[in-house]
Amino acid sequence: MSRAFNFCAGPAALPTAVLERAREEMTDWHGKGLSVMEMSHRSKEFVSVAEKAEQDLRELLAIPANYKVLFMQGGASSQFAMVPMNLFRGEPGGYQADYINTGQWSKKAIAEARRYGDVNVAATTEADHFTSAPAQSELNLSDGASYVHYTPNETIGGVAFDYIPETGDKPLVADFSSSILSEPLDVSKYGLIYAGAQKNIGPAGLCVVIVRDDLLGQTIAGTPTMFDYKVAADAASMYNTPPTYSWYLAGLVFEWLKEQGGLSAMAEINGRKAAKLYGFIDGNDFYANPVAVNNRSKMNVPFTLADAGLDKTFLAESEAAGLLNLAGHRSVGGMRASIYNAVSEDAVDALIAFMADFAQRHG
Ligand SMILES: *Cc1c(COP(=O)(O)O)cnc(C)c1O
Repeated sequence: MSRAFNFCAGPAALPTAVLERAREEMTDWHGKGLSVMEMSHRSKEFVSVAEKAEQDLRELLAIPANYKVLFMQGGASSQFAMVPMNLFRGEPGGYQADYINTGQWSKKAIAEARRYGDVNVAATTEADHFTSAPAQSELNLSDGASYVHYTPNETIGGVAFDYIPETGDKPLVADFSSSILSEPLDVSKYGLIYAGAQKNIGPAGLCVVIVRDDLLGQTIAGTPTMFDYKVAADAASMYNTPPTYSWYLAGLVFEWLKEQGGLSAMAEINGRKAAKLYGFIDGNDFYANPVAVNNRSKMNVPFTLADAGLDKTFLAESEAAGLLNLAGHRSVGGMRASIYNAVSEDAVDALIAFMADFAQRHG
C-alpha cells in the first residue's frame, strides 16, 4: 500500500491508522455483522459510538460541563446562518453583532449574518490584503452587539490570531474549522465554537458545534427547526438522522489523538512542523510567505514562488513526487501547504526537501 503526502486544505488528510481501523470494521463492526453505515442511529450500538466520540472530544478539549457538544450537518457554512439565528438578542429590526474580518471565511460569515441583522465590522485587515490579524486595541466593539464573531484561523490566507479577543460580557463566537484540535483551547472563553469536520476532525458531512448552554433556546422568528441549537441539544444531535459514518470516523480520529498524547502533544508536533516550513521559506529567496510573523497559521501555509510562471511546473513535479494538493486557493493563487494533525512531520520534511531541490534546479 502506498500513501501519498496530502497537503489538501479540505477535505484533508486523515490519519492512516484511522483509515485502516475503519477498513477493518467496515463490513462487520465489533462482530455485529454490519457496518456502522447500516445501523439505525437509534440503536444502542450507534448510540455507544456517538457517546464515546462526544466523551473523547470533551476530554481532548477539556470542555466544561455547561457546554453542549452538537454533531450537525450543513458544514461550517450553515453555521454562518445558524449563529445569527440563534444568538441575536433584542427586538426584530434591531439585531446587531460585531464581526472581525480577516479573510475570505470571515467575509462569508459577515455576508450571511447581514441577511438577518446589522453587522458592525469591528476590525478588518482587507487593506493589507488579509496578511495579518488585528490587535485587541484595534477592535471597535459596539455596545449593542449580541455577540462577537471571528475566524481564529483563516484557511485561505493562512492567517491566525495569536490571542483570544476579549469581549467583556458579549459571547465570543469562533469559526475554528481549520485549527480546532491542533492545540489546547480554553473553551470557557467562548460562547460558541464551530468547526466543519473535513479539515482537522474527520470526513466532510459533519460540523461540530460547542455552545454554552445559557445561549440556547432563543431563536429569531422563522428559524427552521433544524437550525435551532436547542432542538439539536435536546435530541442529542439526533432530531433527524445524523451523518452517522462521519460521526463514527470523527470518533476514531479523537481516539487517535488521545493515543498521540492529546492536544499538548499535537501542539508540540504542529509547532515543529510549522517552524520548519516557515524557517525554510524565510531562508530561501525563491519562496515567500506574506503573512505577519506573529499571525502565521500553523495549519495552512501559503507561499509563492519567485517566478509565478513556474507554478504549473511546481505543481506537476510535486505531484509526481507524491506531494499532493499544493495549489493555493483559486482566489489567491500561488501555493498552499495545509499541515493539519494528520499530516506527519515526515510529510513536511519531504515537502521541504522537494522545495529545496526545485529551487536549486529552477532558481
Ligand atoms: C472550510 C471552511 C469553511 C467552510 O466549510 P464548509 O464545511 O465547506 O461549509 C468555513 N470556515 C473556515 C475557516 C473553513 O476553513
